[in-house]
Amino acid sequence: MSDLNPCMTCGACCAFFRVSFYWAEASDAGGPVPVHLTEPVSPFLRCMAGTNQKQSRCAALSGSPGDNVSCTIYENRPSSCREFAMSGEDGEVNEACNRARARYGLPPLYKDMLFHTSLDAATHGLSRVQLPAN
Ligand code: SF4
Ligand code: SF4
Repeated sequence: MSDLNPCMTCGACCAFFRVSFYWAEASDAGGPVPVHLTEPVSPFLRCMAGTNQKQSRCAALSGSPGDNVSCTIYENRPSSCREFAMSGEDGEVNEACNRARARYGLPPLYKDMLFHTSLDAATHGLSRVQLPAN
């Protein structure tokens, strides 16, 4: 395994799940998430545009899942993205992460595998699930 954080060449979770969050996180309600990149889901929920469909892909995702990816609104991403942990991070398996990775033909991640990467790259806060755009 390379020394890079696996998220940098993945992005599968940004193109697999519906990424929903409390509506007030959107910018029209004073929150950080640019409202034009969101869609309403219910009176209380919004989601990232493009993720409430069968072939999900977040409108804020740059690059190709399974290749080089980054989040174009990294500093302003919703709480659901901030809270989604890379599998193996902090010694915890995240089956949802591994399920998304499998959709793109990527192998699962477990704690022991991350020991083969640089500890900094594998665990640093800025290099977890979603990465800032270059
Ligand atoms: S959290 Fe998991 S699915 Fe999401 S980008 Fe990182 S490795 Fe891929
Ligand atoms: S981290 Fe960024 S690209 Fe990924 S789902 Fe969240 S907002 Fe979209």
